[in-house]
Amino acid sequence: MSSLLFDTHAHYTDSKFEDPITLLKSLFESDVCGVMCCGWDIQSSKDSIHLANEFKNMYCSAGIHPENCVDIEDMNSSIDEIKLLCSEDKVKAIGEIGLDYYWEIPKKKQQDFFDAQLSLAEELDMPVIIHDRDAHGDVFDIIRSHKKVRGVMHGYSGSAESARQYANMGFYISFPGTITFKNAAKLPEAVLTVPKERIVVETDCPYLTPVPFRGKLNHSGYMKYTASKVAELLKMDYNEFCELEVQNAKNLFDTK
Ligand SMILES: [Zn+2]
Repeated sequence: MSSLLFDTHAHYTDSKFEDPITLLKSLFESDVCGVMCCGWDIQSSKDSIHLANEFKNMYCSAGIHPENCVDIEDMNSSIDEIKLLCSEDKVKAIGEIGLDYYWEIPKKKQQDFFDAQLSLAEELDMPVIIHDRDAHGDVFDIIRSHKKVRGVMHGYSGSAESARQYANMGFYISFPGTITFKNAAKLPEAVLTVPKERIVVETDCPYLTPVPFRGKLNHSGYMKYTASKVAELLKMDYNEFCELEVQNAKNLFDTK
């Protein structure tokens, strides 16, 4: 049995990583057997493709994050660019996309970008990676209006009840390092509510570092703390959980 994990959400093109190639080489030797490197705008989506091409089991997503739609004037042409990037071999999902009501971003504009990218995912039959910050109700309503959409709720922070609803709609729920925090609140309940076949874990690195490294730069090597917390909640053997998580992530992103 293997204790390797699949990091379903990372940002190794973030400038905080000074030498991502060397770091990823060592992570692929000891900690992970798969990494999804997420884009947040056109440039980071292109950068993620370049980085993913360096490693056999590294994949990437292309998409426009709600915070990054603000400065884009021509939505349709940027969606066309995302569509073009989606034809690259390593691009396995559209993301990260969604709504962020924490920051002062015009809601209508975010919703239009979210809606258009969900339509693109349906058209291309690709999974989506959803960002939902303080916008649970609207995210749910917009997703529900796209009947064929599938994917993952990244960095899950919602209720156990809505986790169950998303799982019923065919979505995966991705738990981040915050589940190791003492004030993780409703997250343990969400883990126990979702069918095991729908659970994956992530770093969202360089952010959301789990205990005991909270405050440091996050990377996929720290995901074992997140995974062991989830395994403990599920009362599963750690290695058994790792095998399940990797299989779930591969099913999510249609990778071998
Ligand atoms: Zn992210």
